Amino acid sequence: MIERTLAILKPDCVRKKLTGEVIARIEKAGFKILGMKKIKLTKETASGFYAVHKGKPFYDGLVEFMSSGPCIPIALEKENAVADYRTLIGATDPKDAAPGTIRKLFADNKSENIVHGSDSPENGKIEIGYYFSKKEIIELD
Ligand code: UDP
Ligand code: MG
Repeated sequence: MIERTLAILKPDCVRKKLTGEVIARIEKAGFKILGMKKIKLTKETASGFYAVHKGKPFYDGLVEFMSSGPCIPIALEKENAVADYRTLIGATDPKDAAPGTIRKLFADNKSENIVHGSDSPENGKIEIGYYFSKKEIIELD
């Protein structure tokens, strides 16, 4: 099934000047980029995006981190996009991530872990809608 998933190159990825490296890996893995932009999340926007984690011990730190500098949301499409993208990035904690994955290669720890990825096709669509209007999704290429 052709699916969509939302990637975010997190503020640590931007600060470490790894955005090109990460985008190259995403492209080489066969994902089509439908939309991409650089933004700085407010605390409110970050809180809303991660509302599912509200109440967890890492929530406040996560909101702080995600609003600490610019990030780059990217709308992706591919056959089996959700699972394939999660395979490409690796486990949440880089200590547990498989060799060669983006988080294993570039992430410092479980919080500052370089990239976001959606966890289901349904959430992929919802999360893309959180950052992109219909007009910003370009299907030609
Ligand atoms: N996170 C954290 N500490 C934890 C678990 C998660 O700081 O113990 C942060 C981390 O940035 C992670 C995000 O919260 O990417 C969302 O957590 P989730 O469990 O959904 O991981 P993901 O889907 O990003 O792998
Ligand atoms: Mg998640």
